[in-house]
Amino acid sequence: MTTLTVEANNLTRIYGGREAVGDVSFTLSKGEVLGFLGPNGAGKSTTMKMLTGNLAPSKGSVKICGVDMIEHPKEAKALIGYLPETPPLYREFTVDEYLSVAARLHGVSGKHIKAAVQRAKERCGLTEMSKRLIENLSKGYQQRVGIAQAIIHNPMVVILDEPTVGLDPIQIRDIRALIKELGGEHSVILSTHILPEVEMVCDHVQIIDKGKLVFNGSIDVLKQQRHGNKLLVGFNNLSIKEDLLKVAGVETVELLDNGLLRISYKPGQAPTEAIIQAAVKKGWGLHQINPDQTSLEDVFVQLTYQDTAA
Ligand code: ADP
Repeated sequence: MTTLTVEANNLTRIYGGREAVGDVSFTLSKGEVLGFLGPNGAGKSTTMKMLTGNLAPSKGSVKICGVDMIEHPKEAKALIGYLPETPPLYREFTVDEYLSVAARLHGVSGKHIKAAVQRAKERCGLTEMSKRLIENLSKGYQQRVGIAQAIIHNPMVVILDEPTVGLDPIQIRDIRALIKELGGEHSVILSTHILPEVEMVCDHVQIIDKGKLVFNGSIDVLKQQRHGNKLLVGFNNLSIKEDLLKVAGVETVELLDNGLLRISYKPGQAPTEAIIQAAVKKGWGLHQINPDQTSLEDVFVQLTYQDTAA
């Protein structure tokens, strides 16, 4: 039996002759939380809509737990819970009323509706809000209601489109904790433009830019890209560039505006120790030596804004 919950093959969507999403392919396994990350306009919502059967792809296919979305939309959609960017809330309903309607719409049978509503409320921290009108809830609680309706039928796959936009820091923290918890029982796709959100919540990340996937891997692999085989070194004596280039492993030496030197080296051959030894021996006045780590934000920018000027 397949453990793949989502299989996207060459998903493509063309709007008025312009490709909004092109050839996006990936798989998701049971229990995985996938961060679908990209700047605004990158094609995240369009991809989410195609994954959930709310938008027909111009090309490509989606299978949910092996069920083809185009051939068997009803069965495939029943396996998904979806929180769109704008939650589909009936503001004049109470939480209980709304979740009961959502359960019915998701095909939960009459006798199981009460238990399904109860469980979704418990998981989303909404039990105390049962009788409150949705329009009177804070945005954070409204978002919880949106997530509760997405999981009410206990779907295999939960897809959340920008779930923390517009929330305050405490609400954001709570919603992120909830998403992480959902990952235990469901496969989750979290679409977001917020990098730290992916870092905190997801095991796996895909970065989309201008409709194309530009990165697909674990968060750890993304983090490894920060290590750029470079050192930042400070010496009292700045006229030692030529001597440094003679140290084993050193490839280039660049003087920065702040007076530090950026030294690049061959992968796997960090010359840290050799530099320290040479500095002590030759009296260069070494006062600082650190790995030159780009931030995860820089990696994201490098991956997504490389050719925006074009
Ligand atoms: P994101 O969710 O990453 O912000 P979207 O998927 O909403 O990106 O949009 C991707 C691109 O497709 C954007 O250039 C957007 O303007 C365009 N787009 C989205 N929806 C439509 C539509 N209904 N008609 C025409 N263009 C659209």
